Amino acid sequence: VDEFELIRRFFSTGYPQRTDVMLGVGDDGAISRLGRDEELVSCSDTLVAGTHFPPELPADAIAHRALATNLSDLAAMGASPRWFLLALALPRIEPEWLEQFSAGLARLAARYQVALIGGDTVRGPLSMTITALGSVPPGTAVRRSGAVDGDLIYVTGTCGDAARAWQAMAGGATLAADDPCYRRFAYPEPRVQEGLALRDLASAMIDISDGLHVDLERLLTASGVGGAARAEDVPLSAALVDQVGLAAARELALTGGDDYELCFSVAESRTTDLARLSADWSCPPVCIGRVVSEPGLSWELDGLGLANPSSAFQHF
Ligand SMILES: [Mg+2]
Repeated sequence: VDEFELIRRFFSTGYPQRTDVMLGVGDDGAISRLGRDEELVSCSDTLVAGTHFPPELPADAIAHRALATNLSDLAAMGASPRWFLLALALPRIEPEWLEQFSAGLARLAARYQVALIGGDTVRGPLSMTITALGSVPPGTAVRRSGAVDGDLIYVTGTCGDAARAWQAMAGGATLAADDPCYRRFAYPEPRVQEGLALRDLASAMIDISDGLHVDLERLLTASGVGGAARAEDVPLSAALVDQVGLAAARELALTGGDDYELCFSVAESRTTDLARLSADWSCPPVCIGRVVSEPGLSWELDGLGLANPSSAFQHF
């Protein structure tokens, strides 16, 4: 039973249906209608020490990641972040650790003006769940399901960096605090402004948490279409290529995850609008392929077909 089967079997049906739920389980966030002028976008994400981050990661980075992954989901819906709740399980109370944790949390919250409005703390193995809430004008949230045949597929920033750092740390390496791949893992920057800017442009959007291949595949499946993508066009950082070489960098970019970049589709007629809109972004979008009508995502490298990358992060 994988994560999607688990959700489908136990958490999709048998619960009360409400007409003010515009979109329920299954996208980056849910959409609820509040009044005439606004819809609420909600998402929730759990991070467990040892599974999603090494327990010895600095506390401010743990907090930053926990909030950033949620803001990234809101970004993928094109929502403005507004509030969040934190449920924190701690093995013991360590004031110094908590000092650092709260400083990291407050710093990222301040950057996007998102308020901490509640939560819970319990004793237990280190883990945290953040629920983030944002809003959109009615009907404007970007779903995974809007891609159509002929749209172009884009990804922001670079992929694979965070996965490289996680892999190295899992193998026992200690990375320098200024290692660019470590920075991407420890302090991912959610693409909030970019997601907002794409709200009226992207036909479908998802953030990359589990790996470019599987997350793009989810977007295409939700849209009932397929995709043809070019591995040589997937943006890689110089630091990543430097550290692992080009072939391994590509593999990490396609399968690694933890990128928190945005992957989205845009109608070909709107690509000049996209170029204008993104001209000053620090994480410029790069076109990596095209939506096709036949289901499935296929990759090629320099014109030759590529075996589909093996699945990335498995939730179970
Ligand atoms: Mg997501």
